[in-house]
Amino acid sequence: MNLFGLEINLLYVFGVLAAIAVGLVVLGILLGTALAVWFWKTRKVLLPRLTVILMNFFEVPVHALLSLLGIKKDSAYIIREEMLNKLYEKDYEKVPADKRIIFLPQCLRNTKCPAPVDEEGIHCIKCGLCGIGNFMKKAEEYGVKVFIAPGGSMIPKIFKKYKPKAIFGVACHPEIRLASDLVVWMNIPAQAVPLLKDGCVNTEVDWEEAERVAFKGLKKRNKKGKKRNPHKPA
Ligand code: SF4
Repeated sequence: MNLFGLEINLLYVFGVLAAIAVGLVVLGILLGTALAVWFWKTRKVLLPRLTVILMNFFEVPVHALLSLLGIKKDSAYIIREEMLNKLYEKDYEKVPADKRIIFLPQCLRNTKCPAPVDEEGIHCIKCGLCGIGNFMKKAEEYGVKVFIAPGGSMIPKIFKKYKPKAIFGVACHPEIRLASDLVVWMNIPAQAVPLLKDGCVNTEVDWEEAERVAFKGLKKRNKKGKKRNPHKPA
């Protein structure tokens, strides 16, 4: 091919471009793995956004390399979750309670849960059969909305209606991983706590940890619904 008087060998150009693309992929995989290992060994956060993006984009090869280095799949998920929490922690803390939304999975409910369900999910009546009721009481004290989603399709509708500026979620590792793509893409400050035991029913979470992370930066409200004066004793 002749371009501006220069003879260009198309095969050569494609060869160079392909070599650059392969080089970038290899570099991305190695960098994603190196950043994940660095965090796992030192607990020091280095380039959290890049780590999450590379770990998501090159998930299979990065997980394979981490596994070869003795870091199993669940640990790789935990690295990504902790990175995500570190990435958005400061921004999340600044978002007021009425602009936050909490998502809890319905699998945390007791199998005899009497709560009614509508298009905004399950409405816990705090019957005491599972830990959700107690968490709901705390959320009310802080003034944060909680949604218990019976399925993922409900979540976009809630986003559209309430337009949250920050989100907190409890979910299994694969669901947090899926949500992390969306969160990084939308750049919404998000925090997550993984289930300790996952499955379809009778799952478990560390409720103390969930409360600590979900209500970061908030003050409890008094009975009239106003924030407590931080200078007065509670
Ligand atoms: S505490 Fe709420 S979510 Fe749990 S079983 Fe009772 S009504 Fe259902």
